[in-house]
Amino acid sequence: MEKIEIANVPTKVEKVDFFNKHLNKSVFIKRDDQTGMGSSGNKIRKLEYLLADAKNRKCDYLITCGGIQSNHARATAVLAAKYQMKSLLILKESEVNRTEGNLFLTKLVGATIKVATEDEYQDLTPMIAKLTKELIASGHNPYVIPMGGSNGIGALGYVEAYYEILLQEQELGIVFDTIVVTNGSGGTYAGLLYGNKESNQNKTIIGMSVLNQREQAVHDLLHILEDMDQYRDHHLRFSAEEINIIDRYIGLGYGKSQLDELRFIEKFAQEEGIILDPVYTGKSMYGLYNELKDGKLQGSQNILFIHTGGIFGWTDEKIKMLYGAI
Ligand SMILES: *Cc1c(COP(=O)(O)O)cnc(C)c1O
Repeated sequence: MEKIEIANVPTKVEKVDFFNKHLNKSVFIKRDDQTGMGSSGNKIRKLEYLLADAKNRKCDYLITCGGIQSNHARATAVLAAKYQMKSLLILKESEVNRTEGNLFLTKLVGATIKVATEDEYQDLTPMIAKLTKELIASGHNPYVIPMGGSNGIGALGYVEAYYEILLQEQELGIVFDTIVVTNGSGGTYAGLLYGNKESNQNKTIIGMSVLNQREQAVHDLLHILEDMDQYRDHHLRFSAEEINIIDRYIGLGYGKSQLDELRFIEKFAQEEGIILDPVYTGKSMYGLYNELKDGKLQGSQNILFIHTGGIFGWTDEKIKMLYGAI
């Protein structure tokens, strides 16, 4: 598969003193939050492949879906603008529909937004089919990207990121025995796991779930891994036992925050100068911290945490939880 080169890569790998200081543990962070600005975060690595596919098929309209503050939808809309395409985003309704954060940026770059009710969002297939048909009827050639860009093509972006990490290990003279990444729709984790097996490395790849319970997450991941196989030469098969998902840090549910999570993000920001987000990386970094504090992950000596972005998830609602109304 080809890709379009957009992301600022390789992203930096930095030592996280926070973990040395508090837990005497060696943790590094890979700054995939710095892959871009409007197109920052992990979604860009998937979209490099998805966009190349869309262009090969001469598509002029990107359709995708996500939560009302979806990072993926925002990155898709930004790239559509960059490549003179149009974008249609189907976003799941929420109680808070302020034009801020990601939602604001998608409007700014000209995306068309359609809000789906919770019921409609359960199965978007009919809605997407209808919208696709309408666009075709009006002379467009739409390209549908699944939630989070997490299909076999999108996940290739993180197979590539995995190989990027192997090169950086050589440069830094470190071997990471464990990679920790936030798991949502699964494309990021699937790509890393695929790279790990394909290159015969034996790293532990941990997915900190912020969306689904373990069983559902594993089910979705196996599906993506299977879909990836057609694009690689090795033909790898995966079983549920190879997938390492921790689901203890979802908290109140996807997109919902608790004060202890936000206070952790604040402490981390103040001691480390790295900004985590409340929906994804804040929960998973807090999860990693708690796992290590509780004496888990004993086999992990050198851990690499991938910072997957999400800065625009700092909506007014989250800020108010921390600091009250201004
Ligand atoms: C989407 C997202 C993730 C999760 O990646 P998936 O490939 O969907 O599992 C993690 N962090 C951030 C900031 C994201 O936007």
